[in-house]
Amino acid sequence: MHDVAVVGAGAAGLAASIFAAEAATKDGRPQRIVLLDGAKTIGAKILVSGGGRCNVTHEVVSPIDFFGNRHIIKNVLAALSVEQTVTWFASLGVELKREETGKLFPVTDKARTILHALVNRCHTLGAHIRPDHRVIDINKSPEAGFILQHSQGTLRAEKVILATGGRSIPKSGSDGFGYSLARRLGHHVTATVPALVALTLDDRMFHKSLSGLSQEVELTTGVKGRVLYRQTGSLLWTHFGISGPAVMNASRFWTLGREQGEPVEVYGNFLPGQTQEQAKSWLMEQAANNPRRSLLKTWTQQIPGRFAEALCSHVECDPKTAVAQLSRIDRDRLLVALTRFKFPVSQDRGWNHAEVTAGGVPLEEINYQTMESRSVPGLYLIGEILDCDGRIGGFNFQWAWATGLLAGRAAAAP
Ligand SMILES: Cc1cc2nc3c(=O)[nH]c(=O)nc-3n(C[C@H](O)[C@H](O)[C@H](O)COP(=O)(O)OP(=O)(O)OC[C@H]3O[C@@H](n4cnc5c(N)ncnc54)[C@H](O)[C@@H]3O)c2cc1C
Repeated sequence: MHDVAVVGAGAAGLAASIFAAEAATKDGRPQRIVLLDGAKTIGAKILVSGGGRCNVTHEVVSPIDFFGNRHIIKNVLAALSVEQTVTWFASLGVELKREETGKLFPVTDKARTILHALVNRCHTLGAHIRPDHRVIDINKSPEAGFILQHSQGTLRAEKVILATGGRSIPKSGSDGFGYSLARRLGHHVTATVPALVALTLDDRMFHKSLSGLSQEVELTTGVKGRVLYRQTGSLLWTHFGISGPAVMNASRFWTLGREQGEPVEVYGNFLPGQTQEQAKSWLMEQAANNPRRSLLKTWTQQIPGRFAEALCSHVECDPKTAVAQLSRIDRDRLLVALTRFKFPVSQDRGWNHAEVTAGGVPLEEINYQTMESRSVPGLYLIGEILDCDGRIGGFNFQWAWATGLLAGRAAAAP
């Protein structure tokens, strides 16, 4: 009989195991913690995170960086501040550094440093990590605790922490089966869709010609004129469409809208901070001061030349036209395209490319002080399996650490 069985050895499961193993037992003996993971080698997602550098957290973390029930999210985040996260990693032997963007990374710039530190701490504390142990079923035992059926046999545990992640990068082991386990135990699961994912554009668009170009944009997602999300950031043109932080952050609204049958529109203002009227005044000033300057040369003062060229041909304007010669119709078409460009999104890039899952087990079904299920005593749910997703910047890992801490400590409490 184990004290705690943690299902899933990702960021949340490893954190929970450490906090559980550190907790005192009634009789002073070490905690009996076992960590089961279906993957043959654990930590795939930590290793690929942050471009192989693992963006552990962010200098400022607040509920507005997350989507889901923000009241509950706020309470969960309060369990582990950024300062405490930094101190915790230092106690594991990992020094973090802050980058200009506010993101925190290990000073080694290697995600492996994070994985090693977490795994080593589990080993030191005697928490047993069992890779290649895929959990197939979990049942309440008629006596006490739970019986877990896994690919190598069965085991019993007083408490179970479900940390099976979501559905992004299924080959890493997080293939969504955890949702079935949660359902069988009586939980609901809201619709799950890819989030922090790049978007594919209609093939007739000019994105291919700009592949590799990055520029600032104010991106808005909306349904029938109602704004869902607006944010300024970097957009990367690719051979399939658009990517980059601004697009990834907005993507969940597009994927959720499609799931719910509500077409979500994605608009870009390539002159962030300027309205169409302000852009028009600027253009007219340019036409007055430098009437013979080409449209292309004029716009490259504000936007990348390659993009200016592509946009001009998109709205069927010759980029070589002298700015003062531009017809009013062409000028207005160009200004609309610059400040309210409707992206012809055809698809998202899917689970193999998404960084996280939007949707999952509703937070209302969990006690946010302990992460214990409200309907199944002794069962705890943490990390990405829950209906909470953060924007880009280290927020999803912060969620994993914070929920791991709460559940680990609570599950191991005597
Ligand atoms: C490419 C990429 C880059 C990312 N970069 C960042 C970043 O820099 N910063 C950031 O904050 N977030 C980042 N994320 C998101 C972050 O990795 C996840 O939010 C986080 O890993 C979720 O942790 P988790 O422990 O809940 O789930 P996971 O890390 O997905 O772990 C779940 C584990 O459960 C196991 N499992 C699943 N089902 C079973 C089963 N039935 N039995 C046993 N084991 C099972 C899986 O094998 C897996 O090991 C990135 C994600 C991706 C894909």
